[in-house]
Amino acid sequence: RAKRSGRNRYSFFTADLEASSARALMLENALHRALERQQFALHYQAQVALQTGQIVGAEALLRWQHPEWGPISPAEFIPIAENSGMIIAIGEWVLATAARDAKRWLDQGIGLRTVSVNLSAVQFRHPQLLEMVSRCLDEAQLPGHRLELELTEGAAVDDPASALDVMTQLHERGAHLSMDDFGTGYSSLNQLKRFPLGKLKIDQSFVRDVHEDANDRAIISAIIHMAQALGMRTTAEGVETEAQRAFLLEQGCDEGQGYLFSRPLPVAAFEALLHQQQS
Ligand code: C2E
Ligand code: MG
Ligand code: MG
Ligand code: MG
Repeated sequence: RAKRSGRNRYSFFTADLEASSARALMLENALHRALERQQFALHYQAQVALQTGQIVGAEALLRWQHPEWGPISPAEFIPIAENSGMIIAIGEWVLATAARDAKRWLDQGIGLRTVSVNLSAVQFRHPQLLEMVSRCLDEAQLPGHRLELELTEGAAVDDPASALDVMTQLHERGAHLSMDDFGTGYSSLNQLKRFPLGKLKIDQSFVRDVHEDANDRAIISAIIHMAQALGMRTTAEGVETEAQRAFLLEQGCDEGQGYLFSRPLPVAAFEALLHQQQS
């Protein structure tokens, strides 16, 4: 009996695994054609200066709309794109598109300090990254200092020495660098202080329970003070409530991003928001 239930559990497990890898395979096949079939779009989420409430930046967030399956979350398809290498081509499309959008807003007089683009660790380790970034900036005629690249701690963990090289080259090309989801990875503070990072993005997992959890408040406060001591700015992710905003402002956090200010918006709606702020 024990043996049979054991076998049943095993077969349930493999059935799950087969279903999830079948889905991953299906998504991977569809991803191969998604670029040419123009199924990708960028949404933009406002980054707001907490002192003034002004929108000072925007993060480009990739959206994939499949004609039959509907929207597929980046949390699901980005890892597949990374494992298959497709993130290189997709990531170039993201950067080229974001750079053109940023340039258009500057030309319209509704420009932001920076537009942020996420770089996956796979892109970060790609030997042609600097050329790709440079090409996108040149083609859009966007000054490098209008671009911010969001890295994750995973990008620097394996090989901190070459991570420092890559960051230095990107920084010399003019781009700002920020560390995304800060506090969730394994970056060493010893390396952090050497990297040319302008900003730490405080992960939303710390922001979420800030009203109830004294530990999260302590962690946020420590990150902000450490960033200040190292000459870096801070952006809090996932700000949804007024109480979170007030706490972050009181702690000296520079910027906030989250549903309290705006959801990620399709490009036309985000542009309208910028025009509205301008007038
Ligand atoms: P991320 O870079 O940390 O982006 C922030 C995520 O938090 C976004 O999820 C955003 O929609 C969500 N968010 C923003 N405000 C709030 C809030 O107030 N509450 C909550 N609960 N969530 C909020 P999204 O768009 O689903 O993206 C998930 C992740 O996928 C991103 O996390 C990023 O790691 C990755 N990603 C998205 N676009 C790209 C891209 O173009 N390239 C790469 N390499 N990764 C991307
Ligand atoms: Mg990000
Ligand atoms: Mg993040
Ligand atoms: Mg994240």
